[in-house]
Amino acid sequence: MAAAVRTRIAPSPTGDPHVGTAYVALFNYALARQHGGRFVLRIEDTDRERSSSEAETMIFDALRWLGLEWDEGPDVGGPHGPYRQSERTEIYREHAERLVAAGAAYPCFCTRERLEELRAEQKASKGRFGYDRRCRAVDPAEAARRRAAGEEHVIRLAMPTDGEIVVADLLRGEVRFAAEQIDDQVLIKSDGYPTYHLANVVDDHLMEISHVIRAEEWISSLPKHLRLYQAFGWRPPVFCHLPLLRNPDTSKISKRKNPVSLNYYRRAGFLPEAVLNYLALMGWAMPDERDQFTLDEFVAALDLAKISLGGPVFDLARLAWLNGRYIRDLSPEGLVERLRAELLGDRHLLAVARLAHERVETLADFVPYAGYFFSGDLAPDEAALGGMVMRGRTAQETARALREVLSEALDPILDWTAATVETALRDFCARHDIKPKELFMPIRIATTGRTATPPLFDTMAVLGKEICRRRLGLAADALGAVKA
Ligand code: GLU
Repeated sequence: MAAAVRTRIAPSPTGDPHVGTAYVALFNYALARQHGGRFVLRIEDTDRERSSSEAETMIFDALRWLGLEWDEGPDVGGPHGPYRQSERTEIYREHAERLVAAGAAYPCFCTRERLEELRAEQKASKGRFGYDRRCRAVDPAEAARRRAAGEEHVIRLAMPTDGEIVVADLLRGEVRFAAEQIDDQVLIKSDGYPTYHLANVVDDHLMEISHVIRAEEWISSLPKHLRLYQAFGWRPPVFCHLPLLRNPDTSKISKRKNPVSLNYYRRAGFLPEAVLNYLALMGWAMPDERDQFTLDEFVAALDLAKISLGGPVFDLARLAWLNGRYIRDLSPEGLVERLRAELLGDRHLLAVARLAHERVETLADFVPYAGYFFSGDLAPDEAALGGMVMRGRTAQETARALREVLSEALDPILDWTAATVETALRDFCARHDIKPKELFMPIRIATTGRTATPPLFDTMAVLGKEICRRRLGLAADALGAVKA
């Protein structure tokens, strides 16, 4: 009997839940379902500084919103747990020691200063970059003594130094790498934590993953991963690297040109089934080439080998078009139900009511007063653009300031509340020597389309991060396009 199909999604909880995570999750989910296998969610949180529990919760919520339920994972358990890498560090250490004992990995005592010098030399001589493998020559007994004496070190993988490393990818066939180009990868850092490569391979093996379906950007890791499988004496899974999603201008998908957070799509009123359907069209076409199909139909039809590698373009306008078709397929009652689920749900209505109830005379005032809490994009008109320009600055300079607000102050906030937004914006003003009043008016107009609103930070909190981001980005684009 063929081994069971077990797939996984292995996101790192380091930011807002990314549309690329949903894309990869969808194909993994579909393959597992098609074969009656299991779909695993593993949280790769070995980067302790960048990982957060807010980001983890958002991944769970976004995948559940889409309907991509997992069979095993940190919150649902399963026979191969724990499913959070930060809870598995002993396992990685023990596995790294096995490799050291077998001579496939070695302790490296080189200091940061030495590595920096090495890098500078390599840069000057335009030579090969990477670690020069000096500690590979340290006698193992001597290395063991130095470790026992507490000398700081990392553990590195001993890669072959010549010849070719040939790896198989389901979509690309054999991919070849010159061994000398591949670094002796750090497996365990000096703080005892594993790097992505070690943790990922050990977990894929122990969790009995049969197919590793992930984004193209990980192909360059394959030679290291393959070496790890060989060094452990394990059989590697099937590898399938999905093409990168692209912006309409074919650059790699980025938040500058497309909303990339799944929270945006949810809050801006996209239907989860339309988002999934659209993602399924990225590199995949149904045998009869129809655009609209259900998740079950996708599960039944998927054939990984037929995924096309020509960079699929994620085009918001096309997704909106498809979403419109899904909306029209709903009955009026169905539409009401969807509205009540998110935009006109009690939670959101109550949050808006808290801000509006002092400011309306009749119930009928509520909708016109609070309209911007219930809409998606705003297109600023000339008057709005004029009002946004900061004193003593041009429209272009204001646009630049708003973009900096986005990237420096707002993007990093994962716990989006009136208080966190206020702190981030005030810190930004202090850092850039801007009077808060001067910055807050353009932000108010950009996010609401109005010059008078309830208190700005409360308003932004209720609008949510994604709507604020998107409207500020659009306002910056419109300001940047104003003729000087
Ligand atoms: N933690 C990696 C990520 O965030 C996982 C890559 C993989 O699937 O191996 O994408």
